[in-house]
Amino acid sequence: MVKFLDLHKQYLSLKEEMDAKIFEVIRSTSFIGGEYVNAFEEAFGSYCEAGFCIGVGNGTDALQIALWALDLPKGSEVIVPANSFIATSEAVTLNGLKVVFADCDADYTLSPKSVKEMITPDTSAIIPVHLYGQPCDIDALKKVAQEHSLKIIEDCAQAHGALYKGKKVGSLGDVGTFSFYPGKNLGAYGDGGAITTNDEKIAQRCRMYANHGRSEKYDHRFEGVNSRLDALQAAILSVKLPHLESWIDARRGVAEYYLQRLDKADITLPKVRKEVRHVWHLFVIQTHDRDRLKEHLLAQGIQTGVHYPLALPKLHAYRHHEKSTTHFRASSIDSILLSLPMGEHLGYEERERVVEGICDMKKGMN
Ligand SMILES: *Cc1c(COP(=O)(O)O)cnc(C)c1O
Repeated sequence: MVKFLDLHKQYLSLKEEMDAKIFEVIRSTSFIGGEYVNAFEEAFGSYCEAGFCIGVGNGTDALQIALWALDLPKGSEVIVPANSFIATSEAVTLNGLKVVFADCDADYTLSPKSVKEMITPDTSAIIPVHLYGQPCDIDALKKVAQEHSLKIIEDCAQAHGALYKGKKVGSLGDVGTFSFYPGKNLGAYGDGGAITTNDEKIAQRCRMYANHGRSEKYDHRFEGVNSRLDALQAAILSVKLPHLESWIDARRGVAEYYLQRLDKADITLPKVRKEVRHVWHLFVIQTHDRDRLKEHLLAQGIQTGVHYPLALPKLHAYRHHEKSTTHFRASSIDSILLSLPMGEHLGYEERERVVEGICDMKKGMN
């Protein structure tokens, strides 16, 4: 079996240290806030080259809280990519703001040109998603944002450790958000998320909002929510964080292998821009017989995924957006996307099986 994701194998590689750490937290009974959360926030903030890091309950909350902290005009429009997970757009609506979809470029990241076309006098912010682990063209997006006084929230849920011109994502816009959902490149043993920023005021607002609007224990300056990274998850993430760079290297090794070996295959390979370090949360190819290839690979014990089966404007939840986005690239490619197995769990034999599985089906067709 070639697994799409293998969290069990990762756990076994960390078992001794992880088990000890988990029981240490339980013995300490310091479950909410406290030393383990502080230590992880410090370590992850520093890893992201951001001045401030706030742990929150999950990546969706991170987006919602970050948007809230920016204090955007009520009812204003926020531009999000049409190809993302629904959390990106949900956070906008949850804040009483209006979702506006923009298209992606051929490399799947948010198109600065499309963003420009979607701007109206009511636009207040852009949420570039570093989709599949590849940073968006932040300089181009920043230029557009500056021209129109827009805020930038980076959705880094799939891109922990990715670099844009040598700089870490999460430190490039006004505020960055992360998810530690178990299957992400840095995953907790449950839900978790974080917000990063270099702006002290935004950091303070996020921290208070995520914790009932409180500063001192019962001094609530405003109403907020309860969305905290708990100590167990923080401790688990602290054990994993020192391994993230080597896991990224392994993912890049798998990607390099696929890119070279599948070069001649009759599929469209993902495009990597020169100025980035892609961290390959997902390796997404395009093929017109997607469903057949998926089945063919599964019959050989190779698991694949589809991210995402429908572009956001095609979901029932956004049916009122569909008409204005039918010409989008994002709306036409969703039926041909296929995510290959990706992760540090893949050995050489497994990589080779994936490559052969794709090549022999494609040969069989000619
Ligand atoms: C996973 C993900 C989220 C949401 O994170 P959760 O922790 O599951 O709430 C947001 N945006 C993107 C792009 C994601 O992939």
